[in-house]
Amino acid sequence: MCQARAPGRNANIIPTMPLNPVSNPQTLVLLSGGLDSAVCLDYYIQSQHKTQALFVDYGQPSATLEFDAAGKLAGHFRTKLDKIKVDGFPGYAGGFIRGRNAFLLVAALMYFDVSSGLIAIGIHSGTSYSDCGGDFVELMRSIFALYSGGSIALDAPLLNWNKGEIWNHAVEREVPIRDTYSCELGREQPCGDCLSCKDMETLNASAKFRTNA
Ligand SMILES: [Zn+2]
Repeated sequence: MCQARAPGRNANIIPTMPLNPVSNPQTLVLLSGGLDSAVCLDYYIQSQHKTQALFVDYGQPSATLEFDAAGKLAGHFRTKLDKIKVDGFPGYAGGFIRGRNAFLLVAALMYFDVSSGLIAIGIHSGTSYSDCGGDFVELMRSIFALYSGGSIALDAPLLNWNKGEIWNHAVEREVPIRDTYSCELGREQPCGDCLSCKDMETLNASAKFRTNA
């Protein structure tokens, strides 16, 4: 049986590739303004990488509020934040978007103007999306290797974490959860119905429960 790693003070992020702390690699974190990418960004800053962040506006309904959140997070972490805007996609209504994470990673690969470095994405376990698992990461690593000859690597340090573990880690690390934004529909008041809202509501409720226990 697959035993989930218990979240808590001893839970440490395990990168999906070995990191050399001496080299302080240039690292570009895809920052969506959500909790996962915020924890990802915190991880590389804590690991003393030369870190910068990239937000991609591909016409998602939540782009404006996500970018506001990404700006607050970048300010909190004193990290340079750039934005790519791509027009022309059809309107999206949230949920699974075919090609999305591959597009974000390739956009980051095109954008990242360094001779060598790391591109990171905050995908995690516990989702049914086909572009959030280890198979996807391996496929994208092959594409990165094809284009960069190994000089630009792909990392997904939260790959084996579930949302609860990420939340607990964010609380312990004092990542500003209040500054994140996750609703896929882009409502000022989160809709409460999309997958991201439901995740956050469950985590909020369990956090309150623990606080009151
Ligand atoms: Zn929502």
